[in-house]
Amino acid sequence: MSNSDGSLDDLRERTDRPMRYLARQYGPDNLSYLVIGGVMTVLGAALFSIPAFVLGVALDTIFQQNQAFTLPLVPDVWLPDSREGQFWLTVAIVTGSFLTAAVAGYIRGWALNRVAQDVQHELRTDTYEQMQTQRMSFFDDHKTGEIMSVLNNDVNQLESFLSQDLQAGVRIVVTSIVIAAITLYLHWQLALFTLTMVPALAYASHKFQQVIEPKYGDVRSSVGKLNTRLENNIGGISVIKSFGQERSEADRVAGASDEYRSANWSAIRSRIKFFPTLILITAVGYGVTFALGGYVFLQDGSWVFTIGLSAGTLVTFLLYSRRLMYPMREFGQVLNNYQYAYSAAERVVGLLQDPDQIENRTDGKRPEQIDGGVEYENVTFSYDGEETIIDDVSLSVAPGETVGLVGPTGAGKTTLTKLLMRLYDTDEGAVRLDGHDVQELDVRSLRDHLGYVSQEPFLFGGTIRENVSYGVTDPEEQELVTALDRAGAWEFVSDLDDGLETVVGERGVKLSGGQRQRLAIARAILRDPTLLVLDEATSHVDNETELVVQQNVTEVSEQRTTFVIAHRLSTVRNADRIIVLDDGQIVESGTHDALLETDGLYADLWRVQIGDLEALPEGFVQQTVGTTGD
Ligand code: ADP
Repeated sequence: MSNSDGSLDDLRERTDRPMRYLARQYGPDNLSYLVIGGVMTVLGAALFSIPAFVLGVALDTIFQQNQAFTLPLVPDVWLPDSREGQFWLTVAIVTGSFLTAAVAGYIRGWALNRVAQDVQHELRTDTYEQMQTQRMSFFDDHKTGEIMSVLNNDVNQLESFLSQDLQAGVRIVVTSIVIAAITLYLHWQLALFTLTMVPALAYASHKFQQVIEPKYGDVRSSVGKLNTRLENNIGGISVIKSFGQERSEADRVAGASDEYRSANWSAIRSRIKFFPTLILITAVGYGVTFALGGYVFLQDGSWVFTIGLSAGTLVTFLLYSRRLMYPMREFGQVLNNYQYAYSAAERVVGLLQDPDQIENRTDGKRPEQIDGGVEYENVTFSYDGEETIIDDVSLSVAPGETVGLVGPTGAGKTTLTKLLMRLYDTDEGAVRLDGHDVQELDVRSLRDHLGYVSQEPFLFGGTIRENVSYGVTDPEEQELVTALDRAGAWEFVSDLDDGLETVVGERGVKLSGGQRQRLAIARAILRDPTLLVLDEATSHVDNETELVVQQNVTEVSEQRTTFVIAHRLSTVRNADRIIVLDDGQIVESGTHDALLETDGLYADLWRVQIGDLEALPEGFVQQTVGTTGD
């Protein structure tokens, strides 16, 4: 089991070459778009390089008329003889190149963005599906926010890398190669000088990113702090007001806001230095190209430059050096975003490839009929591999039996039932359902037979109907009402204005702990499972409700194997058998009466509790049972 510090580094560590994995996983399906995008990128770069070249030729041949009008790759017989014809051909080539490049750019954008959107969608849904199959320990080890950030931020990071930086990167590389090739062809000696600007700009851009990135990190973290403070203060406004802390809270918000301002200002100071620096480098590159080129032109091949240069070629050079330098500014950003995307990919792929899941065997058994016999055989379990939580427990439960699990807090009662539900796997021993080792059952099929009401029932945002029928397709109205009634919930639900359609959960009507629990019980009842686990199902419920639920539980548990984990021993008083757990071991077991007679831990716990019960007037208990029980 992982011993993560919660930073998801464990996910990153187990990934090897995440980008390659993603390319293999999602590349083939998108291959046609990728090829179209790639071809259009190269075509675009080539088309954009034509005008500068043709302009240079036109300058020498049409305007200065010191050379014959020729174009590479075009047979001379195709070219017009008249100057005017040559001029209009040049115009047509220049505009035609730009227009075609624009069309190529459109197709490229369409194809590659399409890939980015499809991949991010598939990646997110795959990651979500995989996340759901994680062992519960994964969710113990990682905070909700961290897992959310893999599904949201990391996937988005990859999307933006795919849709922007990858394209920009490919464009920069292709453009540089095309221009380098043409300039080297035109005048390799001058080209060598001009091309030295490329690494200089790339280096400056990369350096800038290295400086600015930690500053952006500070900005993000100060925004985070500011948001948390605002959120806390708005949420806690009643406390602030009632304690008269408005002034000091305003000061704290001002402090957080000031931190944000300083962080931002520091980032801005670096940023505004960057572009002038680039312009400076570009200007030097330009100046040097112009000076050297002009010198070569004037000297007509001397010094180190043994090849002559025409005015037209010089213009072409200057235009190219611009096209070369401009995209280099983005270079650092692309490199930097690649690093981000890489670490995002490590986490996403770490989750996708995670070997640490509850193994859902594809050949898992799916028994049609489950009677509900449960057997724990020498089960030992630990969450962290160190502290033994369940210690060599053996327990046999007959179909239909109701077993009360009691014992001090932390004894391992809940854990024992989680092993049955296979939220965790045992370290030693086996848990069997009708003789089948639960690890050999198909996980879905196992859980289909299980109903569970947890200590803290969770209601999803949605209506009461949706919450209660969760996991059951289209239940009959009457079934729903019966389930709610048996859970003691119908009374309050029918009183609500919208009844079953009342929205609960995050933004819905506010329910008391007891009401939520009753809805959760109704949810379990409606599923009509062979096995039912009620985990302190009555812990939040007031005394009156408890008696109602207790009676209903007795009724509900009649037709099925039921584990009732209870703090209030009265809840399990009528159980067929009560198992007393202490420190991960079964210390006593028997009926309520037998255990009282044994006079051990159970009898002690009971004495503590009847101390409470005796404080209640006799008549109250009877009256409550009499009026609300059915
Ligand atoms: P009970 O239900 O008897 O109160 P639990 O089964 O919930 O006890 O817990 C038994 C012990 O296991 C406790 O010491 C608890 O701290 C520990 N424990 C419970 N859940 C986890 C978990 N997800 N990860 C690590 N330890 C846990």
